[in-house]
Amino acid sequence: NKELILHYQPKFSLTTDQVTGFEALLRWKGANNLLTPPDEFIPIAEETGLIFAIGEFVLEHACQELNRWHQNGFKDISVAINLSAHQFMDKKLVWRVSQMIKKYQLPPLALEIEITESTMIENVQYAVKTLHELKKLGVKLSLDDFGTGFSSLNYLKRFPIHSLKIDRSFILDMAHDSRDASMVKSIISLAHNLSIEVIAEGVETSEQLAMLASFQIEQVQGFLLSEAVDSTAAAELLNKGSTVSSILKNSKAG
Ligand code: C2E
Ligand code: MG
Ligand code: MG
Repeated sequence: NKELILHYQPKFSLTTDQVTGFEALLRWKGANNLLTPPDEFIPIAEETGLIFAIGEFVLEHACQELNRWHQNGFKDISVAINLSAHQFMDKKLVWRVSQMIKKYQLPPLALEIEITESTMIENVQYAVKTLHELKKLGVKLSLDDFGTGFSSLNYLKRFPIHSLKIDRSFILDMAHDSRDASMVKSIISLAHNLSIEVIAEGVETSEQLAMLASFQIEQVQGFLLSEAVDSTAAAELLNKGSTVSSILKNSKAG
């Protein structure tokens, strides 16, 4: 019924202070205009097989939006999509991604694919093969919710990933719990030693942000800076040239 929409949550670089790209997050806008979060309907879509059609919608719309940002002069912006386990095991995935890159004439590096460890656990060998094929296309691969699954070091060794996203649960307590802070710091340095970039998700306080900056993390994402917004608001964010500092300054002033 055309009730699915994508919202976009910006990711910010702590090196340049600027928006580096957006993560596309799916919402179901029902007749009553209420937004249903993906956690509530994606598991059902997986069970019923609807996830494939939904995944195509997400890939297509995210690429279309990315093309629009690039056309408007924001050439360095990237877009990330999330893939669930079934989608990742789809034999046509690599072909679909390559078709979309062609259709919207995108630099492959501007498309990022986020997967979780649980996505790949069912058939690690097949997963590794698919990851390498995606990497060959030139898209970026990112390990989402890092720390919540098995977080096997063997995966870090075998998966050709460009970045890992530290799960929100570690960020949540890091300012109060020194064990969480130590873990975050260690994950960052482990990743850096493997030439993997790190991004923190769920950054909600300036305390967390300051700690992450002191740990030399590359990027942050979270409600402190922006929640996921619709495509109009995402374009506005780019047009305004929003930066980490400008957002923090405005929030203090407001
Ligand atoms: P995720 O990929 O780990 O996305 C991060 C989730 O955390 C998003 O929830 C986001 O809105 C929320 N979040 C971001 N910053 C903060 C913060 O500072 N504080 C708090 N409390 N939450 C924050 P959302 O949009 O409800 O998505 C939930 C999950 O649903 C996603 O987790 C992802 O696994 C899945 N998902 C979303 N869109 C898609 C999609 O298009 N396809 C698939 N397969 N899964 C999707
Ligand atoms: Mg994600
Ligand atoms: Mg996540």
